[in-house]
Amino acid sequence: MDTDRTAGDGGGTLPHDLLQTLIDFLPSGVTLFDSELRMVACNRQFRELLEFPDELFADGLPCMRRLAEFNVARGEYGPGDPAGQVEGVLERARRMQAHVFERTRPDGRVLEVRGNPLPGGGFVTIYTDITERKRAEEEARRAASYLDAVVSALPQGITVIDEALDIALWNPAFVKVQNLPDDFMRPGVSFADVIRFNARRGEYGEVDVEDKVRRMVELARRFEPHRLERTRGDGGVMEVEGRVVSEGGRPIGFVTTYTDITERVNNERTIRRVRDLMGEAVNFSPTCIWETGPDGRYTFVQGMEKILGVPDSHMLGKDRWQRLCGDECAEGCAGAAASGERGDCRVRRAIAAREPIERWTLATRNRRGEAVWLSCTARPVHDEHGELLGYRGVDVDVSELTRAHRDLEQIALHDPLTGLANRRKFHSRYELEAAHLQRTGSSFALLLIDIDFFKQVNDRWGHLVGDDCLRGVANVLSGNVRAVDMVGRFGGEEFLVLLSDTGVEGARTVAEKLRQAVASSVPASPGGAALRLTVSIGVACAPGERRRAPDFDHLLAEADRAVYAAKHAGRNRVCTALPGATQNP
Ligand code: GH3
Ligand code: MG
Ligand code: MG
Repeated sequence: MDTDRTAGDGGGTLPHDLLQTLIDFLPSGVTLFDSELRMVACNRQFRELLEFPDELFADGLPCMRRLAEFNVARGEYGPGDPAGQVEGVLERARRMQAHVFERTRPDGRVLEVRGNPLPGGGFVTIYTDITERKRAEEEARRAASYLDAVVSALPQGITVIDEALDIALWNPAFVKVQNLPDDFMRPGVSFADVIRFNARRGEYGEVDVEDKVRRMVELARRFEPHRLERTRGDGGVMEVEGRVVSEGGRPIGFVTTYTDITERVNNERTIRRVRDLMGEAVNFSPTCIWETGPDGRYTFVQGMEKILGVPDSHMLGKDRWQRLCGDECAEGCAGAAASGERGDCRVRRAIAAREPIERWTLATRNRRGEAVWLSCTARPVHDEHGELLGYRGVDVDVSELTRAHRDLEQIALHDPLTGLANRRKFHSRYELEAAHLQRTGSSFALLLIDIDFFKQVNDRWGHLVGDDCLRGVANVLSGNVRAVDMVGRFGGEEFLVLLSDTGVEGARTVAEKLRQAVASSVPASPGGAALRLTVSIGVACAPGERRRAPDFDHLLAEADRAVYAAKHAGRNRVCTALPGATQNP
C-alpha cells in the first residue's frame, strides 16, 4: 500500500531517500519505472538477485532499454536475435499490464517476477527468488506420488482418518478387503458412513445400525491405538490395526490397516487340527516322533516318555545316537563305542553316511534299566542348498513283539531240556564256520560227546535224575569252552561242540579238558549219593589249509566213528578221527 501510494504520488510526497530505505528493507528485489520506462528506484536485493554489476549504475539508474540490452548481451533470455529480444522486452513493458511469471535464470535459479502498473503511470516490479520453494514443492510432489504408488500397491487396505473422522485417504485394497462397492469411496466419506454401510449389510450381525455407528464413533474419538480381528459376513477374517497420528502431542487422526488374514487363519486352523490329530495318534500308540539337528541332538521329541519313562522335555538337546547306540544300548554297542570300534554299530555308520533308516530295530533301555526295542524309521533332512539340517524320524516300541520273537526263536533253536543250541542252530553256525574257513583258511573242529552207560542211570535212578544229569553235563561243557565256541545237544545223551579257529591238537586238548571236567563233576546227587559220569569224545577237524570245509554230515560221521572207537577202547576217553578218513563225496 505504501509503495502504491508512493508510486501513485510519483514519489512527490515521499522523500526519495525514505523510499529507498523502505525498499531496501524488503526481502524481495524491487524496481519502479516511470511511464517512459526510466527507472525511478530499485533496491540492493534487485541488483544482487539479477547480478547487475555496479558499472551499470555508475551514471545513475539505468533505463529499461539499457537493462534489456545488458541482459540480452549476457544471454539472460537464451539464444535469439538480440535486437528482437530487446524490442520484445520493451514492448511488453509498454503494455503496462499486471503480470506474474517465473523466469529461470541461466544458472538455474528461478525468479518470480510480479509486475503491477502504478496509477500515475509506470509500474512496480517485485523479484523473488523462489528456487528453494520450487525445489521443495517439486520434492513434495514427488514424495506424494511415491507415497501414492506405494499405498495403491499395498496388499493391505489402508485409511487415514482425520480429526473429524472423515476418511482423508484410502487405497484400492481397502475397498477390496472391506468388500465395498466400487463407487462407495469418495472424498468426504466418513468413518461413520463405512460403519453404517457395514452394519446395514449385517457385517456385525444383528445390530441396531445407528446404535452401532454411535458406539463405534465414540470409540474412534478416543483416538486410542487398537488391533482386532473381525470375521466378515462372508466368513473372511480381517485384521484391523489402528495407529494414532499426533501433532505436538495432540491426536489428529489415525492410520488404520486392514489385512485379509482369512488364508492365514484357515491355515492355522488346519495346522492346529493336524497337530492335534498327530499328537493323539502319537500319544495313543506306542510311537514317538522326533527331530535332531545335524549334531544328532534332539530338537523335537513327542511320545518318548511312555516308551522310556523319561519326559520328552528332558530329551531335548541330548545326543540321540549316544543314548541309543552308546550308554543305553541294550545290545552292548556301548562297548563297541568305548573301544573305538564304532564301525561295529551299523546305526552310527548309517548316520555318518547320512543314509535313511528303514524300520531298523534299535535296542535300548528304559529308565528302570529294562531292555526296550524301538523300530526306527528316519531320514536326513536337508535345506535347499543340500546342507544337512538333521534327521527326522519315528520310533515304534516293538519290545513286546521282539520279546515274543526272541522267545519263539529260543524255542525253535534251542533244546528245551538243557537250553543248548539244537541241531538247527548248530547246523547254521556250522555253515558260518565253514564259510569262514573258506575265506580265511582257519581250521575248526567238531567234538561229539556221548555219556557212558547212561542207560544205566535212567534204569537205576529214573528219568528225572537222568534229565538232571543231562543238564549238569550241559553246564559243565558250556562252562569249559570259550564264548566263541558253541555247545549243542545232538539228541539223547549226545552233545556236540564246535571249536572255531582250532586245529586238531587244540581240539584234542579241549576234548581232554572236557572229559576230565565231566569226570570230576557231580551232575546230580540222587538220595544224597554223588553221581559221577564219564564221557567218550570223538574229535574231528576241518583243516584250514585245504580251504574247503567238509559238509556237516561228513565231519559228524568222522566224529561219530571216533566216539565209537573211544567206546570200543574202554570209554571215558578221547579219540581223534584220522584227518580225511571220510572224503567228501
Ligand atoms: P554207551 O556207553 O554205549 O553210550 O551206553 P549208553 O547207555 O549211554 O547208550 P545207549 O544208546 O544204550 O543209551 C542211551 C540212553 O540215553 C537211552 C535213553 O534212555 C537215554 N536218554 C536219551 N535221551 C534222554 C533224555 O532226554 N532223558 C533221559 N533221562 N534219558 C535219555
Ligand atoms: Mg549214545
Ligand atoms: Mg551213551
